[in-house]
Amino acid sequence: MRLSRYFLPILKENPREAEIVSHRLMLRAGMIRQQAAGSFSWLPLGKRVLDKVCQIIREEQDRAGALEILMPTIQSADLWIESGRYNDYGKEMLRIRDRQDRPMLYGPTNEEMVTDIFRAYVKSYKDLPLNLYHIQWKFRDEVRPRFGVMRSREFLMKDAYSFDLDYEGAKAAYNRMFVAYLRTFSRLGLKAIPMRADTGPIGGDLSHEFIILASTGESAVFCHKDFLDLPVPSADVDFSNDEEIAGIVEQWTKPYAATDEMHDEAAWAQVPEDKRLAARGIEVGHIFHFGTKYSKPMKATVMGPDGKEHFVSMGSYGIGPTRLAAAIIEASHDEAGIIWPEAVTPFEIALINMKAGDAECDRVCEQIYAALSASGREVLYDDTDQRPGAKFATADLIGLPWQVIVGPRGVAAGEVEVKSRATGERETLPIEAVANRFS
Ligand code: ATP
Ligand code: MG
Ligand code: MG
Ligand code: MG
Repeated sequence: MRLSRYFLPILKENPREAEIVSHRLMLRAGMIRQQAAGSFSWLPLGKRVLDKVCQIIREEQDRAGALEILMPTIQSADLWIESGRYNDYGKEMLRIRDRQDRPMLYGPTNEEMVTDIFRAYVKSYKDLPLNLYHIQWKFRDEVRPRFGVMRSREFLMKDAYSFDLDYEGAKAAYNRMFVAYLRTFSRLGLKAIPMRADTGPIGGDLSHEFIILASTGESAVFCHKDFLDLPVPSADVDFSNDEEIAGIVEQWTKPYAATDEMHDEAAWAQVPEDKRLAARGIEVGHIFHFGTKYSKPMKATVMGPDGKEHFVSMGSYGIGPTRLAAAIIEASHDEAGIIWPEAVTPFEIALINMKAGDAECDRVCEQIYAALSASGREVLYDDTDQRPGAKFATADLIGLPWQVIVGPRGVAAGEVEVKSRATGERETLPIEAVANRFS
């Protein structure tokens, strides 16, 4: 992509409304634009990041056996009246009426709708386990939308829903999502710690929030330092092996970890003092087993091997891709700007022409741009007539992992410079060697 033809509305000034660094950097780097309280457009650079985040989530959901669908954002109130949640949900739900004056709502979540799909088609235990997910916009009329896309009113959520014959099956489904989440966050370049979460009136021990440590996080969290170097399951983990999956979950739930709501001083006191980590965290994912909470009132049953009807045992599993884009920046930036992990960076390489219009610099840049593009690298080529200082500042701000810097002096010597955004290290390479350097 040539920067001269791109849409990258960089802000020079720090936007005053932004209280945290990710919000500030997303606005300054031209990733998002606020449209109303808690509502944002994703501009080209931001959209590329969001798509990569979603793609990683999707790959790991698929690997764990979940199936992607897409449900509407606008839902009829009927299903929610059936489950009993229409009145309970309160003011966070945006309620709408259509021209027939029928009550509708903008979905804050999809348990009811997916249960309706399930009960329409699935009749036998032989069709289980089943896990359906989608990546779709949600609306919650948050009391305090803030921190940009971190807590917005309209946001993207990946929500998966599992259906099983009994608790044992549901627990295995829960474990698969738990392991899929470990892999997902690790691939996104994040250390997310699963913490015991409140299961509310349903009870039970099957609810975990996945939390990223960050000083700007909204929750106070307490965990054992051992979490920081637990091994993340590899790509060849066998999701069809319930025991293997349960073993991983056990390992990842053994050390102490809790948010302030679930914090237990007595258990905390058992953690050796030098192993205690009391910090702040951001909730990026939440998995939850709720059994027959929706299948009972909505009559979602299957025929069991015993020839009887059973209410299916369900769980739901959420991740916020829009919040994650911000959380990744909270975890990876410096004074100059964003530092993207390779996995989600909008482009891999910033190709910087220090003297656009100079015949030799232009020629070398075109040659490198063509070679890198041909080998599949995603390059943002700064071919604008800005001064070098401004170009470097932009490149640092938008945080692509690599900068290839082409200037008249280097070109005369047959060389260009490669800079790592994360470490600041620079190397000088012969022009012909650049394509190989990134292959
Ligand atoms: P929070 O405690 O931050 O309000 P939640 O517990 O209400 O989140 P869940 O219902 O568990 O959220 O939704 C699953 C995921 O959706 C969350 O873990 C988070 O990543 C994302 N999410 C929830 N609310 C928002 C929001 N207002 N803006 C952006 N992402 C959100
Ligand atoms: Mg909430
Ligand atoms: Mg929460
Ligand atoms: Mg939650």
